[in-house]
Amino acid sequence: MIKIEELEPREVFSYFQSICNIPHGSYHEKELSDYCVAFAKERGLSVTQDSIFNVVIVKEATKGYELEEPIIIQGHLDMVCEKKEEFDFNFETEGLKLETDGKYLYANGTTLGGDDGIAVAYALAILASDSIQHPRLEVVFTVSEEVGMEGAAGIELSMLRGKRLLNIDSEEEGIMLSSCAGGVRAYCEIPVLYEKSTGQRIKMTLRGLTGGHSGVEIHKWRANANLLMGRMLLQLQKEVTYGIISLSGGQKDNAIPRECTVEILVEQEDVSLVQKLIQQFSKIYQHEYKMTDPEMEVELVCLSEWEGSVLSKSSWNKTLGFLTSTPNGIQMMSMEIEGLVETSLNLGIMELGMEHILFTYAVRSAKKSAKEALCDKLTFLTNLFEGNIRMTGNYPAWEYKADSVFREKMCAVYEEMYGVRPKVEAVHAGLECGLLSEKIEGLDCVSIGPNMSGIHTTEEMLDIASVKRVWEYLLRLLETKETE
Ligand SMILES: [Zn+2]
Repeated sequence: MIKIEELEPREVFSYFQSICNIPHGSYHEKELSDYCVAFAKERGLSVTQDSIFNVVIVKEATKGYELEEPIIIQGHLDMVCEKKEEFDFNFETEGLKLETDGKYLYANGTTLGGDDGIAVAYALAILASDSIQHPRLEVVFTVSEEVGMEGAAGIELSMLRGKRLLNIDSEEEGIMLSSCAGGVRAYCEIPVLYEKSTGQRIKMTLRGLTGGHSGVEIHKWRANANLLMGRMLLQLQKEVTYGIISLSGGQKDNAIPRECTVEILVEQEDVSLVQKLIQQFSKIYQHEYKMTDPEMEVELVCLSEWEGSVLSKSSWNKTLGFLTSTPNGIQMMSMEIEGLVETSLNLGIMELGMEHILFTYAVRSAKKSAKEALCDKLTFLTNLFEGNIRMTGNYPAWEYKADSVFREKMCAVYEEMYGVRPKVEAVHAGLECGLLSEKIEGLDCVSIGPNMSGIHTTEEMLDIASVKRVWEYLLRLLETKETE
């Protein structure tokens, strides 16, 4: 069996392991933040920690590097906490159970938090070293990136001297990310009323959809369980009268929903017709989405006779009207970069409550104006159905900088090491570089990272050999001088 202690580079994996031993889900970063502060103090490095637990550590240039441009190394302290359903685990008190097959590092039953623990591990390993040569380093660890970049939004950076920022929060080696979309979370709330009814209660669950990350996989045209449920209920309404008891789907605004459940009330004599129709619809959807969602299925369970509240007819009309007319998915592709999604939205969560139904979206665009136009459209639609809209977590796009000196240097160092030019790309997902660019005038950013797969899921894996190559690349980048 391969031990984690034996993985190379040892200093990086040793810090990574220490990080994984400390619970550090979003909004629970204090302990890891304190660990970084203690680390800096032990080494006599200058360190600041703000009230939300962002940390900045400064290490002066090594001898001969005093005149080089300072480099800001940045990553986020928090991780997404996902666990396998049957796995008993407490993210607030337990350390992750790391495992390796020698090729990949992963956590048993949970997310690994390679996103973005590896950035913290790299930075600590560099700061701890006496032998690595580097310019002045300004290390920035932010909190709550995964829940709306709250750390990057709130951080004070006036103490920094650097104008070059290396964000280590990407998942593909050999790619220099140079721009990303901006985003906002939109909550559309439509008021509803209930009325009393009786009949046969039926529960239908649309499940087994592929899902995915709305910033990274929206162009794959995978089915959205909430929208497909809306379509199914609209189709059903043409043939059968029913009442809605409950309706919910999806768990996160930025995840394409994989499951949606509805409970309806029908007349006893319509039960077999409903069963027949749902089976037909299910076959149609399975056929339509066989390439993207091969595991999709609709499960129908007949529950008992029931007496209780269902949505009033007019409330259901508004809900269904909204659900079947909302924009969703790709709205525009970039005209400048081939294959890049420019504007999109994802109806991630749908929740029917006692007083209203709530639709939660992740809206993204590389263009601020397009993001605003899409939000206006959602606002108009919500108001049309007598609802209200709220927006939170607005973050700016990180715009492409054509004359980036730092990116050019990073590409040159890469080419010198590997003989090939790295790819320069843009992503539709969000990175903190946009927010940070607003805080430091003329900031020149690049985002990189070692190969990772399955981030934000229990299948998350970190490629060990890639961690080593990126480490070597980082060291080469730091020691490559521009002066003299
Ligand atoms: Zn991340």
